[in-house]
Amino acid sequence: MTLSENTVHLMERRARLLGPNVSTFYDDPVHVVRGEGVWLWDAQGRKYLDCYNNVPHVGHCNPRVVEAIREQASTLNTHTRYLHDGILDYIERLTATMDDSLSTAILTCTGSEANDIALRMAEGMTGKRGIIATDATYHGNTALVSQLSRSNVPEVGFGLDQFFRFAPAPDSYRTPDEAGALFADAVAEQIDALNKTEHGFAALVVCPFFLNEGFPNLPDGWLKPVADVVRKAGGLLICDEVQSGFGRIGTHFWAHQKIGVVPDIMVLGKPMANGHPVGAVVTNADTMAAFRTKFRYFNTFGGNPVSCAAAMAVLDELQDHNLMAHAKDVGDHARARLHKLQGKYDFIGDVRGSGMVFGAELVLDRDNKTPASDFTDRVINEMRQRGIIHSKLGRHKNTLKIRPPMPFTKDNADMLFDVLDDVLANTPLTS
Ligand code: PMP
Repeated sequence: MTLSENTVHLMERRARLLGPNVSTFYDDPVHVVRGEGVWLWDAQGRKYLDCYNNVPHVGHCNPRVVEAIREQASTLNTHTRYLHDGILDYIERLTATMDDSLSTAILTCTGSEANDIALRMAEGMTGKRGIIATDATYHGNTALVSQLSRSNVPEVGFGLDQFFRFAPAPDSYRTPDEAGALFADAVAEQIDALNKTEHGFAALVVCPFFLNEGFPNLPDGWLKPVADVVRKAGGLLICDEVQSGFGRIGTHFWAHQKIGVVPDIMVLGKPMANGHPVGAVVTNADTMAAFRTKFRYFNTFGGNPVSCAAAMAVLDELQDHNLMAHAKDVGDHARARLHKLQGKYDFIGDVRGSGMVFGAELVLDRDNKTPASDFTDRVINEMRQRGIIHSKLGRHKNTLKIRPPMPFTKDNADMLFDVLDDVLANTPLTS
């Protein structure tokens, strides 16, 4: 592939100024300069349909969020050591969407920080340090949390790896009837292993929709037996809803509500303020108090008035435009279109998702379910060339990851699948 002069120049500058740490999407990275709703524009004025980005949750450059930021930034912005209504009004409004027990929160700037606090809260509450997660997840980038992030496993890390154990992520495609039970057994096994160490067992941390793991299709209520195992062992359940929250799955505002559990601690981030950096850890009053007995916490930027105004505007948009119901409606339509494509192409092994998260696992053959990882990569690169932005994920990186901003419409979905159909028809399964 020949890259444009502009792309080569920007990639060289990036490598020089950012070093090798921040990778880009696609063989031919997109140089974006503007966004609006579900659309992005590159420097040449070409328009792309954004089917990937869950950060601009209520649409790129949503006017209400932009105006909320502008208005608050021109009135006051400061840290949280003063009295200010913004943070209190926001936490009241946010926690009203959750179980009554989840009544208190710390606001952060990222999901990573929020997960880091969550792990320390679990230590504060249980006096233990052993943490269990799935073996195909991502929860962030602090020294502690990066140990959990299996897609970016650190080679070193202050010896923190001793506190972490992993259970195979549920796979509803390969073990459809027993995915939940297998996961419960694996968690129980890791709890036993941790209890044999001096660290003991503090918490299980999961995305309740297993989004980074490839969002397996799991029946409502399925995590309840796992939560029972965790609680019987004296541990806490941490639900990382950084990706799955704020109505995205269409049926429930929070994904844990779909799978029949109330977490002890919830972690939020990404879509929370439509791209303005806001995260949160939400918990019950006892866990918050226990955290304080062992740790001190202050975050200069977390919960500042501008962040809270942006986050509040997101809740207003979700409510006023009924975006959760919209996500269900559009998501159902999208999955129906994916099922149609599955009838046409043998390599679409499994169609999954809920609400505004949908995708399909691509395989070399349906009998053996061998992941078609290379093919998936070529498909998403070709989609990008045709003006459609989406990605791939899952243990084998062979699941199409389609997770657009919530205002995405059925017409947008039709455009996406018309192009996908053409790309699938014209991309060889093996190279
Ligand atoms: N949790 C999950 C489930 C995530 O997907 C991510 C980011 N991809 C994080 C936490 C970390 O959030 P941040 O990048 O804001 O630190």
